[in-house]
Amino acid sequence: MKRREIVKYISMAPLGGVALSGLAAAQDGMPGQGFKGRDLLGELGVRVFINAAGTYTSMTASLMRPETLEAIRQTSQHFVMIDELQDKVGERIAQLTKSEAAVVTSGAFAALTLGLAGILTGTDPEKVKALPKLEGTGMKSEVICQKGHAIGYNQALTNTGCKIVVVETVDDVRKAINEKTAAMHFLHINADKGKILHEEWIALANEYKIPATIDIAADVPPVSNLSRFNDMGFAFVAVSGGKALRGPQSAGLLMGKKNVIQAARLSMFPRGETIGRGMKVNKEEIVGMWVALEEFIKIDHAALAVKYQKSIDMFDAVAKAAGATTRVFTPTLGNVTPTLDITIDKAKFKKTADEIRHDLMHGGDPAVAVVGGPTNLGMTAWCLKDGEDKIVAKRLKQVLEAAKV
Ligand SMILES: *Cc1c(COP(=O)(O)O)cnc(C)c1O
Repeated sequence: MKRREIVKYISMAPLGGVALSGLAAAQDGMPGQGFKGRDLLGELGVRVFINAAGTYTSMTASLMRPETLEAIRQTSQHFVMIDELQDKVGERIAQLTKSEAAVVTSGAFAALTLGLAGILTGTDPEKVKALPKLEGTGMKSEVICQKGHAIGYNQALTNTGCKIVVVETVDDVRKAINEKTAAMHFLHINADKGKILHEEWIALANEYKIPATIDIAADVPPVSNLSRFNDMGFAFVAVSGGKALRGPQSAGLLMGKKNVIQAARLSMFPRGETIGRGMKVNKEEIVGMWVALEEFIKIDHAALAVKYQKSIDMFDAVAKAAGATTRVFTPTLGNVTPTLDITIDKAKFKKTADEIRHDLMHGGDPAVAVVGGPTNLGMTAWCLKDGEDKIVAKRLKQVLEAAKV
């Protein structure tokens, strides 16, 4: 690379502070050259869209902040020992979340599997190697959870070899507990769908000296939820990194008691003879996750909620003007963001909700993604970039007006 080109490369770089490692990479002839101007997703023919749906995994959940992207780029230029990086980042995350210990996993799902693995194995290397075989190993094999909390994501728990024992009442819990009980699991987003709330769940678990565990994957904001369940005494807390935290989509947080996190690490890469070896998280994502968490804690969530509410009110006005019945609300347990529900009534629309969603996504430009069921549309504003709300309102108006009877 000629000096002139190097200077050009630096001035092309999208972010400040990249000079040193950016320069090294460019000299190696790796990134940067002949790359500018390519539209990779366009080359692939992959449709990009405005996300008025929400942090859905299938839609790639969220966009990383510039700070996270810079953390990823910077980290990508260096070799490190992965365990040392996990130790150091884990300490920072533990401070930020007021947990005893923490580790970056490849998502909340992996955090659930690895956290439970840690509870099952402790620091016994033979047990670590044996998972997911539990029989004859001396390990416990049952996880108790409430009926309203028994969702598909509990597959993360059964991946350890454990089975789920479903209960409804406190009495059921007392009957279900036995010498095989490994943990009592709680799903925060469904707290209102069970008869037993967090504190009582923990008290019961403590009474029998069984670890209580919790899935809060999609339940930040509020920021306070990052520490609330650690404070309550859950043995581990699993959070998704790629949803509202806007970290790398394939990252998440496992935090909790020091002994549990330490034991969980034994089932994690780079250790090979483990159930967690495939749940790898690279150095870029580990550092990216930490920086994303820092940014998430720093930003003004109240101001953001006001901004999202304005966008939702704009969509609501469009839907109402087209004759639809609507409901605007902010969920309290998870996905805590202003949300719009639009009822697509047969008497008022000649198209079904499915057809309307299809028209928003495929019937014009730019494509707009919303969610919902057979008779409704669901929308949020927290995945929109600045200014996109006006485009969404315009497309929604076009599609709804054309669908009117
Ligand atoms: C999204 C989600 C998960 C999985 O999170 P990942 O970070 O994608 O692994 C687990 N539990 C619940 C309740 C979720 O919403």
